[in-house]
Amino acid sequence: MVALGAAVSTLSGVGPKKAQRLERLGLRTLADMLFHLPLRYEDRTRVTPIDQLVHGIDAQVEGRVTSVRIVYGRRRAMLCTLQDDSAEMTLRFFHFSQRQQQLLQRANWLRCYGNPRMGVPGHVEMVHPEYQLLTQAGVGEPADVLTAVYPVVEGVSQHLLRQIRDSALDTLNNKNALPELLPLPMLERFQLSALIDAINYIHRPPANADLEKLRDGSHPMLRRLIFEELLAHHLSLRQRRKQRECYRAPVIAANSDLHLKLIAALPFTLTLAQQRVIDEIAKDCASALPMQRLLQGDVGSGKTIVAAAILANAVAAGEQSVLMVPTEILSEQHYRSLLTWFEPFGVRVAWLHGRVKGVQRRQLLAELAHGEIDILVGTHAVFQDDVIFRQLGLVIIDEQHRFGVSQRLALQRKGECENSRPHQLIMTATPIPRSLAMTFYADLDLSVIDELPPGRQQIMTTVMSAQRRGEVIARIRHACLEGRQVYWVCTLIDESELIVSQAATDTAAELTEQLPGLCIGLVHGRMKADDKAAQMAAFKAGTIHVLVATTVIEVGVDVANASLMIVENAERLGLSQLHQLRGRVGRGARKSHCVLMYHGTLSQTARSRLAIMRETNDGFVIAHKDLELRGAGELLGVRQTGDMQLRVARLDVGEAMFDDIRSAADELLSKHPELIGQLLQRWLNQAQDFATV
Ligand code: ADP
Ligand code: MG
Repeated sequence: MVALGAAVSTLSGVGPKKAQRLERLGLRTLADMLFHLPLRYEDRTRVTPIDQLVHGIDAQVEGRVTSVRIVYGRRRAMLCTLQDDSAEMTLRFFHFSQRQQQLLQRANWLRCYGNPRMGVPGHVEMVHPEYQLLTQAGVGEPADVLTAVYPVVEGVSQHLLRQIRDSALDTLNNKNALPELLPLPMLERFQLSALIDAINYIHRPPANADLEKLRDGSHPMLRRLIFEELLAHHLSLRQRRKQRECYRAPVIAANSDLHLKLIAALPFTLTLAQQRVIDEIAKDCASALPMQRLLQGDVGSGKTIVAAAILANAVAAGEQSVLMVPTEILSEQHYRSLLTWFEPFGVRVAWLHGRVKGVQRRQLLAELAHGEIDILVGTHAVFQDDVIFRQLGLVIIDEQHRFGVSQRLALQRKGECENSRPHQLIMTATPIPRSLAMTFYADLDLSVIDELPPGRQQIMTTVMSAQRRGEVIARIRHACLEGRQVYWVCTLIDESELIVSQAATDTAAELTEQLPGLCIGLVHGRMKADDKAAQMAAFKAGTIHVLVATTVIEVGVDVANASLMIVENAERLGLSQLHQLRGRVGRGARKSHCVLMYHGTLSQTARSRLAIMRETNDGFVIAHKDLELRGAGELLGVRQTGDMQLRVARLDVGEAMFDDIRSAADELLSKHPELIGQLLQRWLNQAQDFATV
């Protein structure tokens, strides 16, 4: 039996040189090749007569080469005339070598595949078709399966990849290299075909395959692959959860004196939901098993004070804690809140971020190592190697979707010694639908704050064309005269931070000119951290009226007096992200407004997406829609964090599949635990890695 992990170089026809080129595509093993799925398919099973070609629809033609010539028009090109029984057509090449020219001149029959264009009536042309020389008509039958088109890189052609794929599939089919891991009754129960059939089908679908379903991911053969991969991921999380039982954690008693005093000193009372989740979390911390809990609460639901209550218990128990957040702006805000709440009780809170350097940093680290700091707040800086705690008992991570699992684990390891590890609380404002959370956060327990503090006003949302920018600016002036403050958010028009930062800078200049007498601030990703902090402080203090910002303010920022937000290019953002952004307003008692501006004309889908924002302020409803419209990958932030390196799976599968996956996992865990290791090995290649976590 050949192992799936065998190097591609063991395939016939793959020498060391080809293997090296394949490496560029990340294809090292047989499994890598098999799970390298086609981007799309082409139908080369039929030859279309030239007179039946349809403009814009890819097709295969076959004919005799009647002339090859070079023309010098606006661009030099090689034109080749092809003739079949029905008509003639032109093949046009802008890039060609002399060798190609000679080959075509000598060629007799040609089969080619491309996209026909009909410029001049009655004249058909294909630009850069793929072609194959034939010695005579009809030699080499057309393909009997659809032709897969793969993602490739320079140096690896479609042709090479198809060759290797064929070789891999042959090995697989002849040598039984892909054992079926899912038990037969399970396949039947969930109506799944055998994996080997699915793999063969996906790489070489029959001529009558439903291409639409293959494209949108709903084809049963594709779902078969997706199912197994997601199942493997889910199982790895379940395994990780189980490993927790090998560890102990410090016992942190609930309802400490400090906790009670802290709550009593607040200018507001906790909502019932806040009290409930504090109880759930505190109960976990009071057990000797390390907590791994996810706290979900919509923007503005008051997660920070929940974190503070738990921190108070840890301080009371003599344990150090760390609160990690994704941005420096947010870390400062949390630091200030915690100072206000804790300083009166003599608790030592410190702030570590990228700008703490030299003596200051050395001193802070020394205090931390000696246990003179109770609570450390910071950005990624807190899990660098030289940050050492005397006794870390509690780790809280805010805005979890910005961090990857690996970062979470790195932080957890800081508190690990022998078989003890800290409690971990992860907070997120991205409301993840329950079935999704249960499947992909299976290593975590779940707490949900399902209620907002009283008195919160609905945020009125309007959708507007950017052509009405003038009106929007007038509205800003009006709002500022009433003493309100405004966010103007410039979003990604382009993936480049440079361009967005520039757009923000330009907008700030424009607003400064058009709103004389008002103070316009600016924060963007390319500014120095000091400058960003100064701008935020001034906005918070009310000396800046309008803050022009990029999405650096997306997470967590809390300025109660800001009650109007303008979002540019709103049509380009995901709904959940828009909801996060919008959550920056509506934090005070004042009626708040959000204007979603779009450029150009909106497509039907974009229109209905933005309409959802207008209709609801409920993060869960929005998340559900987002899931329907964009798939879970976006929602889970897989893209930002690089978590869950999926090979074949797309997360835009329905909830039904998530339920089936959990149920299949239960069955494997109880009846076939011996299969799990193999599944993890096959799909994650990291069974060992997880075992040591
Ligand atoms: P998020 O869940 O988005 O992190 P925050 O913790 O930033 O929310 O809280 C948002 C605002 O609501 C803060 O100004 C906070 O002080 C305030 N807040 C939190 N809990 C309550 C409550 N129970 N009643 C009134 N205001 C509250
Ligand atoms: Mg927050």
